[in-house]
Amino acid sequence: MQALTNRWKLVSRKPMTVVERLYLWNIFKGMMITFSHIFKRKPTVNYPEQTRTFSPVFRGLQVLNRDEDGRERCTACGLCAVACPAEAITMEAAERLPNEEHLYKEEKYAAKYEINMLRCIFCGLCEEACPKDAIYLSQTFAPSNYSRQGFIYKKEDLLIPHPIENPEAFEKALGERKPKTIN
Ligand code: SF4
Ligand code: SF4
Repeated sequence: MQALTNRWKLVSRKPMTVVERLYLWNIFKGMMITFSHIFKRKPTVNYPEQTRTFSPVFRGLQVLNRDEDGRERCTACGLCAVACPAEAITMEAAERLPNEEHLYKEEKYAAKYEINMLRCIFCGLCEEACPKDAIYLSQTFAPSNYSRQGFIYKKEDLLIPHPIENPEAFEKALGERKPKTIN
């Protein structure tokens, strides 16, 4: 017989003895493995009560950023959508009205902005492409959901809290990995 590797074993076909049929030795070996794991450090955590610390380069859920006065930065230029390899971003642009200058930083803004988190691969290209520092990938992730529709994140879901009206929530949403304009 020609062997392909040196790992082959000759299998014994002789009938099992009564002691072998009781499988006691095999059960004992299995239990020893189980007990040996009791004293080892657990590789799992009790999520969501406990969470792991993310790597400093972790990129997660997108955040639509505001400026220091709380105005939306996004000008609906569409560069993030063009750069997105997963075609996960859609938006609709609108013209800013004279009485909306306190809401939107630029003359054009995203009236509708959506990201499909089931398509997103969290590559960060949308952040790289944005000329207004309006979008960045934070250090959180999209929580689980029961419906596909629940993974379509709308502008209201993505927009960071107002820095003046809700500074604590704003800081929390910024996280460790802050956009360039905030650093
Ligand atoms: S992180 Fe990548 S895949 Fe996700 S929306 Fe941005 S560009 Fe698209
Ligand atoms: S997030 Fe940035 S790149 Fe995308 S539409 Fe808004 S301004 Fe343009």
